Amino acid sequence: MSKKYNYLIVGSGLFGATFANLAKKDGKKVLVIEKRNHIAGNIYTEKQEGINVHKYGAHIFHTNYKDVWDFVNSFSEFNRYTNSPIARIKNRIFNLPFNMNTFAELWDDCFTPADALRHINEERKEIKDTPKNLEEQAISLVGRTIYELLIKEYTEKQWNRDCKELPASIITRLPVRLIYDNNYFNDRYQGIPIGGYTKMVENMLSGIEIKLDTDFFEHRDEFEKLADKIVYTGPLDEYFDYKLGNLDWRSLKFESETLNEENHQGVAVVNYTGHEVAYTRVIEHKHFEDTKSDKTIITYEYPADYKPGMEKYYAINDERNNRLAEEYKKLAKDEKNVIFGGRLAEYKYYDMDDVIKSAFDTYERIRSAE
Ligand code: FAD
Ligand code: UDP
Repeated sequence: MSKKYNYLIVGSGLFGATFANLAKKDGKKVLVIEKRNHIAGNIYTEKQEGINVHKYGAHIFHTNYKDVWDFVNSFSEFNRYTNSPIARIKNRIFNLPFNMNTFAELWDDCFTPADALRHINEERKEIKDTPKNLEEQAISLVGRTIYELLIKEYTEKQWNRDCKELPASIITRLPVRLIYDNNYFNDRYQGIPIGGYTKMVENMLSGIEIKLDTDFFEHRDEFEKLADKIVYTGPLDEYFDYKLGNLDWRSLKFESETLNEENHQGVAVVNYTGHEVAYTRVIEHKHFEDTKSDKTIITYEYPADYKPGMEKYYAINDERNNRLAEEYKKLAKDEKNVIFGGRLAEYKYYDMDDVIKSAFDTYERIRSAE
């Protein structure tokens, strides 16, 4: 007997919404369930005081994939926002990412790329072999001075671990440039969907049945009977009832304030790179879309250890966790009618475009096997 739906999609974040959209276009019957009281997962934005507030942290869309860029632009028009955050440590500010502006701000005798290289090359000499951890990788990229001012304490706050115990890959996300260019990303396409991400995801899910406030695990038996295939975007370990042990996650706490001020910090993102404050970033949301308003909304972002009841924000891709995730992925392969996708179910530090690309590839693989 054929089931009511072709696909039951667990989670309405970017992975679930992309998969649902592709399946619907192919004429499939799709049901999306979402345990929160809203769609869009962590890219959810909410309008307050006329400003689109990024409720789960600042999200800037950037990609090199033309197909992904065309896809998101078919649901929302994007503005030309370029992320150029400022780093603040005590009473000093620096431009990010690490570029000629940063180097010139730091060293009095630095004006040209050759001047910057002279400093950096001198400092990176202390790393003789291939970098084995984040500290060595950071010093070999930009030298010890920048590592100590802009990386070490920020990273310790963010991950609550010593930089020597973290994978080098975390820091290679940031560009290092010998030109005067404060664009935080190297990608060809970048912007913010005008009107907020929620509107974009709403358009992706247009015409698709959605049940909010619905947790897959509360009615698992019922849901498993409902569809030919399940697309699961929740935490990988939770699906298997943690039977091999718990994966570690990093969480965050957000504290927002509405201020009777037009322009509080002059930029959307300020990174606080020292231990003198517990937060890592302050976001001023109106600058993402250049919203005109007498008021402004700012959000302090505090890294936090994950505890039950909190959101799981970042996979911690160290050796122990990667090994455990691989064991869970072996179990996942045996779940013939379940597709695992997205940052929680793949246990990956994924940007938005990678999540969409992964949903494209997954959908194509499933479709061609049919
Ligand atoms: P999610 O958005 O987490 O969606 C999963 C959904 O599944 C959630 O809505 C959840 O409630 C639901 N769910 C889970 N379990 C169940 C269940 N049992 N039943 C029903 N529903 C369930 N990327 C960028 O490209 N640019 C950025 O600037 C950027 N900034 C970021 C800032 C922060 C602070 C963080 C944490 C991430 C950032 N990212 C950024 C990454 C981006 O958030 C993710 O790549 C993307 O949102 C992941 O989408 P997803 O669908 O995999 O997961
Ligand atoms: N980082 C840092 N100083 C900064 C910004 C970033 O040391 O001012 C390091 C930190 O280890 C962080 C990593 O670079 O975890 C990646 O930064 P990104 O801004 O990409 O982090 P995300 O936005 O994903 O939290």
